[in-house]
This record gives sequence, C-alpha cells and structure tokens, in this order.
Amino acid sequence: MKAAGMKWPYPVEWDKTEYIETDVLVLGGGAAGCFAAISAAKKGARVALVEKGAIVASGAAGSGCDHWESATTNPCSRISPEELTETMIRTFSGYTNGISHYIECREGYDRLLDIEAMGAKVRDTDDEFKGADFRDEETKLLFAYDYFNRFTIRVWGSTFKPALARECRRLGIRIFDRVQATGLLTERGEKGTRIAGATGINTRTGKFMVYRAKAVILCTSRPTRLWLFSPDVPGISEFRPFPCSGDGQAMAWRAGVEFAMMEKSVKGEWSGLRSFPPYSTGNNHNTWYACNLVDAEGRALPWVDRDGRILDRFADRFRPAEGQRLYLKGGGEPSFNVYEVQGPDTPPVNDLLRQGFKLPFFADLASLPEMERKIIWGMMVGEEGKTKIPILRAYGEAGFDPEKDLIQSYGDGWKSGSFLPQERQLFGLPGGVVNDWKLMTNVEGLFAAGDTLYASNCFGHAAATGHYAGRHAAAFAARMEAAAVDERQVAEERRRVTAPIAGENGTDWKELNTAITRIMQNYCGAFKSEELLVTGLKMLADLETREAARLSVRNPHELGRAHEVLDILTNAELVMEACRARKASSRELEFTRLDYPEIDPPEWMKLVTVKRGRDGVETDSRSLRYFGDLVENYEKHNPADSERV
Ligand SMILES: Cc1cc2nc3c(=O)[nH]c(=O)nc-3n(C[C@H](O)[C@H](O)[C@H](O)COP(=O)(O)OP(=O)(O)OC[C@H]3O[C@@H](n4cnc5c(N)ncnc54)[C@H](O)[C@@H]3O)c2cc1C
Repeated sequence: MKAAGMKWPYPVEWDKTEYIETDVLVLGGGAAGCFAAISAAKKGARVALVEKGAIVASGAAGSGCDHWESATTNPCSRISPEELTETMIRTFSGYTNGISHYIECREGYDRLLDIEAMGAKVRDTDDEFKGADFRDEETKLLFAYDYFNRFTIRVWGSTFKPALARECRRLGIRIFDRVQATGLLTERGEKGTRIAGATGINTRTGKFMVYRAKAVILCTSRPTRLWLFSPDVPGISEFRPFPCSGDGQAMAWRAGVEFAMMEKSVKGEWSGLRSFPPYSTGNNHNTWYACNLVDAEGRALPWVDRDGRILDRFADRFRPAEGQRLYLKGGGEPSFNVYEVQGPDTPPVNDLLRQGFKLPFFADLASLPEMERKIIWGMMVGEEGKTKIPILRAYGEAGFDPEKDLIQSYGDGWKSGSFLPQERQLFGLPGGVVNDWKLMTNVEGLFAAGDTLYASNCFGHAAATGHYAGRHAAAFAARMEAAAVDERQVAEERRRVTAPIAGENGTDWKELNTAITRIMQNYCGAFKSEELLVTGLKMLADLETREAARLSVRNPHELGRAHEVLDILTNAELVMEACRARKASSRELEFTRLDYPEIDPPEWMKLVTVKRGRDGVETDSRSLRYFGDLVENYEKHNPADSERV
C-alpha cells in the first residue's frame, strides 16, 4: 500500500476481525476513560480500554492542564461541595448537570490525591513558590483565582496522563491503543435496547475489532469541527485535540441514546485560521489570570470588581468583592459574567477605548510581582494543555524574556481571535448525553463520563465522573449476564466501516468536513428557524447520499479520519434536530429562533431531550432539576459501605 509516495509502515489487515470479551469496556482513554478503567478494575472487573490515540498522551489533557477546579474538599477550601454545586446551578440558570458537577465537587479532590499517589506532581514540593500569596505553606498546595476561598488548585498537569497510563498498565487493564471505536452493539441490534458491546478499527492495520461487554462506558469527549474546520491547518482547527471530534455522540445517537442541550452553541472562541493558538497571546484570563495589561502607550489598564470599583491593590484581584461570597474564575469569560459570581477583571475593551486607552493592548508580565510572573510564565504557561512546546519552549528559543518583553493581545478577552456570528462551537458547557444518578444513559448498561455528558467540562469533572461511572459499571457487570451480540449488526457495521476502502479518487475527508461546516454556518448559525433547519437537514441528507457515499481512503489512518467526518455529519444532524425541538429562544443556551423570538418563556425553562427512536427522532423534556436533592440522591446511590469517598 502506498500513500503520497510513501510505503504504509504497518501490515494491512482490513480483511481480518478480532473478537474480545470483557466485563467492562471503556471507550476513550482520556482523563475520564483512564479513571473509569482504573476504578472498574479495582472493583474486580475485567476491563478493556479502547483509545484512538495512545493513552499516555491522548485527550484534552494529554499535553497538560494547569488548574484543577472545584476541589472543595481540599483542606484549605472554605466552600462545601453542596454550596459550589448549587452556585453553579444558579449561575447557569439551571442549565447544568447537577449530578455530574456534584460528583466533581464531592469526589474531585480525592481523584487529585489518587493521581498524586500514582506519581504525578500536584504540590510545590520543590518550594519554588515558597512565601507566595497563593501557596498554603503546610500542604504546599498552590491556588488560583480566589485566594481566599481556595477551591481551585494549580497543578503540574503534564505529569497526569503518563501517571494514569502507568496505573492502567499496573492494574492489568487490556489497553487497545490506536483503535477507533465506530459503533455500539445492542441487544438484537435494536435502538435503545441493552448494550452488548462495541466495534472499532485499528487505525494502523485496519483490522476490524468486535468487543463483547456487559457494560460500556462512553468517554470519547464532545463533538467538534461542526461549524469550523481548516483543511490547511487541521491540527489547530479546534481547541480540543483533533481526535476528539465527537465519535461517541454519533455512535450513541445511532444507538438511540437520549441527549440534552445539543441546541446550545456559542460564537467561536478558538479555531483554525481565525485565532492564534490557545494561551499564546497576551491576556489576563484563565491561565493568564491576573496578568497586568498595558495599552499601546504603556498605560496600565485598570482592574475593577463586579460593581465597577477600581482595585488599586494587586491582591484584590484574588479576593471576592465586598459582600460577595465567592467568584468563579476571574475575568470576563462569558459564562461567569453573572453578578453573583463575577470576578475581578479589566473593563470591556470598548469602555477602555472610550476612556482614551489606545490599541493594541499588551500583557506586561515584567511588572508583576515576581511570584505571579513565575507562576504564569513557566508554570501555568507550560503545564496548560498545548503550551509546553509550542509556546513556552518556542517563545523562549525565539528570545522572549518575561522579565523584559511585552506580548500583544488580540481579539477580546482570552480568545485571541474574532469570529463571525455563524462561526460557532460547542464550548464551555455544551450539550451531551443525559445521565441518571449512576451515570447510566437510557440504554441499559451504557454509562458515560467526562466531556461526553451534557453540560460538562474540566479535568476534575472528568476524573471524578470517570471513577464514579467505572465503579457503577463494574457493579452492573457483576450482577448481569452479557447480552447476546447480534451478528447481523456486526456484519452491517463491518460493511459500513469498510465501505470507503473500495472507492478510488472519491471524496476526501477534508472536503467532506468543509462541506458540513458550510451547511452548519448557513442553516444552523446564529439565527435558527424551522425553515432553515429543515433545509439544512435536507442538505446534510444529500451530502450523505452523494459525497459521503463516495468517500475514499488510501490507508487505515485515513479510514479513521473518514469515519470521524461521517460522525461529524451525524452530529450535525443531531444538533439540527435538537434546535428544531426547542421552540423558544434562550439566553443561557445562546439560542435564537427567528420564528420563536420570545426569550426563555417559563414553559420552556426545561431540558429538551432528543433521541433517535425506531421510527425517527423522538423529543421529550425533563425538569431542569430532574436530579432532585443532591445529598439525598448521592447517599442513596452510593451507600456508605460502597467504594465512594
Ligand atoms: C487546551 C486545553 C486546556 C485545558 N485546560 C484545562 C485546565 O487547566 N483545567 C481543567 O480542569 N480542564 C482543562 N481543560 C479541559 C479538560 O482537559 C477536559 O475537560 C478533560 O480532559 C475531559 O476529559 P475526557 O476524558 O472527557 O475527554 P478527553 O481527555 O479529551 O478524552 C477523550 C478521549 O477519547 C478518545 N477518543 C475519541 N474518539 C474515540 C473513538 N472513536 N475511539 C476511541 N477513542 C476515542 C480521544 O482520543 C481521547 O483520548 C482543557 C482542555 C484543553 C483542550
């Protein structure tokens, strides 16, 4: 086999099929998947872990993570898990996952201790930051944002995935690196019936894999590349890593899994040619919080609290305002601009220009107190995902000196780019799979964790929900016989998966991805209506029967890429159907229906759910508070003698 003049370096086996049998099958070996596999294995289950890349460095946190959120049970925290979860629920007007975020707040810090026990670096053990305001001298933990309430911990996240991978190996988990899951197997091959396993392809050899399992945990992250894709620079097309393109959602949609909040999308924040790489430009948010900014004439930009009061003291950037209990992050990240939890920030760019400040603005690391400079440049920029090599090392090699040089700021806030209204992304807390208190979906035996869940985000959330789903899936597998795999479903999936191999000079996966983004921008952009969405769905169906049916690939790697894009096509349909189902506009969901302009009428303050049933798309709804009382339900589903923490 030859591709672009190169001999394919692996044996090609796309005529072969391998069968694997296990108790618990984990799809996706990122933060959630590794923890799910570890906790299921510790419960005594036989575990198989299927990962498209290599678990040692795959997933959003594969290259790092600089802060661990919602660590409310750490010894320095002044906020309880219940208070933080309820605050989050109010902040997002109820549109958040109460179950998964309570698990994050209640168990997340224990997962951080687990990672530390596996050999990752969590504390300032080398005393690099001794005496800093953000350090607790006794525990050597370093905090971010709110130095008073201390529930966000700065961490050396680049050490996390290698530690998790070692632990998976130590526990004897069967790891299938370079296998891309393609489909879920269900009882009798029907939608919505009990889970029986999953299929996949080895993206080096092309071998078809069939996994038979009593329980499956979906940990494949969230959909991307729906509205934005850059064929020229695909690696930086999205904020999340390229392989995290939402295959799990597409598989789940085909299997009849219920979704919520898939109608939510936000104006693009990061992508392809529109923005600079994340964290590479001067700013004062997130990783760069709370860096000094200066204007083109060197004048320092002011900092204000949520009431607009100027903060003269640097230390006040790290404390709640007078009368404020806590703040969530600092700076104007859109989701946290709610008065109750709004943190200190520089005023909006337009206000600053009216006050006479001149563009461009620059981050001024040099004028920061030494410890704050050192923690931003070198620790946060360095440990944060995608920063160690392309930013910290590359800038250093190019001669950048944080003690002297300024770094320019682009776009507004931390985004370093400006997008058109129709250029959208699933970012922040987007939609996903609906879960119960065991993190099981409506498909019996199919669990989900991490960014696959609706309204999910962050490493601590992924770790905590992964561990939780793992132990519940293991308990499920321990009391159930395996459901029979339907061989007709396997054969049909094999036919579907291998179809692009037969074609020659057909559609290229990049062309298909680009075409999908055009349809999404034109028919599911900032403004939606029934007419636009129905037309969009028709365009997607046409694309599927024409160009997608002519996809052709030259090797197993491209076969994987082709299926990613076919799944993106499926996810585009899922998003459009979810948009059709909500017949009202919504502020929190950043959702505008031209034909239903009323914003958040009371009868639509609910989760609208969609799933693909036997006879087509089925829509339903749930109360925003369907998960009930947090403590009561947690206790009920995790009795004190279980492996809970
Ligand atoms: C640049 C960046 C910086 C971030 N910084 C922070 C931070 O500082 N703090 C924080 O808390 N959070 C941070 N996050 C978010 C956090 O990393 C994620 O929320 C978290 O890692 C999600 O974990 P997950 O397991 O759900 O998904 P991931 O860790 O992304 O794992 C998903 C895995 O599924 C695999 N996969 C996908 N499809 C398939 C398939 N078909 N078959 C097999 N495997 C598949 C992927 O390869 C991947 O390994 C950051 C994210 C990014 C992108």
